[in-house]
Amino acid sequence: MIKENLNVVRATLPDNVTLIAVSKTKPVEDLQEAYDAGQRIFGENKALEMRDKHQVLPDDIKWHFIGHLQTNKLKMVLPYVSLVQSVDSERLLSAIDSWGAANGKVIDVLLEPHVAAEETKQGFTASELYDVLDAATSAEGKYGNIRFKGIMGMATFTDDESVIRRDFSALLDIHENARTAYPSMAEDFTELSIGMSDDYRIAIEYGSTMVRIGSMIFGERNY
Ligand SMILES: *Cc1c(COP(=O)(O)O)cnc(C)c1O
Repeated sequence: MIKENLNVVRATLPDNVTLIAVSKTKPVEDLQEAYDAGQRIFGENKALEMRDKHQVLPDDIKWHFIGHLQTNKLKMVLPYVSLVQSVDSERLLSAIDSWGAANGKVIDVLLEPHVAAEETKQGFTASELYDVLDAATSAEGKYGNIRFKGIMGMATFTDDESVIRRDFSALLDIHENARTAYPSMAEDFTELSIGMSDDYRIAIEYGSTMVRIGSMIFGERNY
């Protein structure tokens, strides 16, 4: 089933859109099945779970972290992670940068602005995000061990498509404004990670370069 589901999703994606298979809560057998069907990029939202899966699955998998990352779990994630998509605060960003400096690594990240209506969601305001990019591109060159790859975001959890479109449009604006305002960074800052199983078709209309799809590939999650 997983192979068939993957093929269905792939058939709907333009060539320039990368598929992240979101495998959180799913057993390693399911990830292996997706791997055997050619999938190489997986998204997980828990540090311990991702580490355990990383240890038993093939080495050429690219692991993307997509959840709220606690600073005390960085060492469980950063040694092998390919992209931290969900950098949602300056505090976390600084901690990742420090870990990178101490370990001689440059970490690829996406910044996660908060645009959805929910109160509880983490994330930067647009102005906090531009402050970070200001500091990164200033003469003092803050965040020397971070490579800023773009923006990750989520739309409000709703059936109202106009709200989803408003949120994706806001995320696209932030991405484009940042690329324009920080041209020295634009070469790296190419990714816009928006779109999940229920809304990725809409996200693609708003310039998504990465879709994060779980349930449509692996089936519903039973938490
Ligand atoms: C779970 C999750 C997804 C995938 O959601 P589906 O609806 O199962 O496709 C995408 N992004 C993030 C951040 C997630 O936590």
